[in-house]
Amino acid sequence: MDKAREQRTRRPVLAKEIGPDPEPFERPLICPICESVVEPVRGYKSVPSLFRLAKGTSHESGCLLNPTEVIASIAHGSHGLAHVTDDGLLRLELPADISALPPWPTVPVDDTDTDVIRTRDTTTVRPYLPPAITSAAKIARFLQLHGFDPKIVERFRVKPHGQRPILWGRFCYSPRTYADLYQRCARRETISHPLAVHGTVHSIAQDKNGKPYARLAVNVPAGDTRFHVLLRSAHDSLIEPLAAGTHVLAVGDWTVFDTPHIPQLRLFADEHWQIAYWETDPSNGLPTEPTCPPPVTARQRADAQARARARRPRPAPEPRPAPAQPAAPTPFPPPAPTPQAPKPVESAQPEPELGDEPTATPPQPEPTVASAPTQPPPVPPRPSLPPPPPAPPPAAPSPRPRGWRRWFGRRP
Ligand SMILES: [Zn+2]
Repeated sequence: MDKAREQRTRRPVLAKEIGPDPEPFERPLICPICESVVEPVRGYKSVPSLFRLAKGTSHESGCLLNPTEVIASIAHGSHGLAHVTDDGLLRLELPADISALPPWPTVPVDDTDTDVIRTRDTTTVRPYLPPAITSAAKIARFLQLHGFDPKIVERFRVKPHGQRPILWGRFCYSPRTYADLYQRCARRETISHPLAVHGTVHSIAQDKNGKPYARLAVNVPAGDTRFHVLLRSAHDSLIEPLAAGTHVLAVGDWTVFDTPHIPQLRLFADEHWQIAYWETDPSNGLPTEPTCPPPVTARQRADAQARARARRPRPAPEPRPAPAQPAAPTPFPPPAPTPQAPKPVESAQPEPELGDEPTATPPQPEPTVASAPTQPPPVPPRPSLPPPPPAPPPAAPSPRPRGWRRWFGRRP
């Protein structure tokens, strides 16, 4: 856990207070939520200082930090995608189409659910997040509460579609493992499943075209270099709900982009469901329910394409942007070096390539591990773009604290 409380005074204690002698807090310490006694554990190497339950104790029933209950709750709300194994691990399956929504009509609508939206031909439920992403966000949030305690992290697995299960940490990267992901991407490792990056927004910035983007981390060391972790989109509405301090789980095709300055580990989100976010409720310090931005409208897509087209004919007076000029939808096979931005010359402009970005970069249907690495992926049945989302319902999902109790689903 990254927090605890003094039992006598109820004063919150942060993991970063662990270390000095004498201790700046009074023992015994208890769980930040229930009354179970916890012990400070000093960090070592990549493991940060954190609190763990004292020997022989466990979290009380109903405590948000109780792994057994939370694992069962996540499995219950996962529409069949997350399973508790015999060993008590939680295994999250990534469906072939990670954006797939359950067949709502056959799912009994919870009677306490007031968020069901029905339009002419669709029924959807706020916050429009596919269950695979919702479950992943709940796991990430739970691990965050535990201060990424390796003993807790190891209770989670991910099973990419058609592949063997992998450790949670090979699917979802958090601040302490960003460098691992950077290195995997930098050496062009073939990664045949979507990747998730979990973090807290450091700041929101704008590129030279005035488009906002989120910095999740800056100047992260990796070997003898440093890099930034950025979340970008051609659609401002996907970034606008985020602010410094917002917690984010961003899923998709993370790649390394070399700039004349500091390389970027980044995701270009094209769909609302690629970004799950939640806040810390100031009243109790606990994370709120994950939500996501409203779906991108057909109008937004058309505008983004028009902007991209307007920017493209920069290099030469070619009357028509011939379609033969690949719009550079990031080729997946490793052979070709990164499609270089035409002119990486301008030095004061860290992001000169925005206009050259593919306007659609959903996680690509990737070759399965089994397929020969040398074989270029069969022209992927182009991004299974979900049908243009239904017009967003009038009320935008409120990013504000919805109460952490909702975490346990809607059961009373
Ligand atoms: Zn507890």
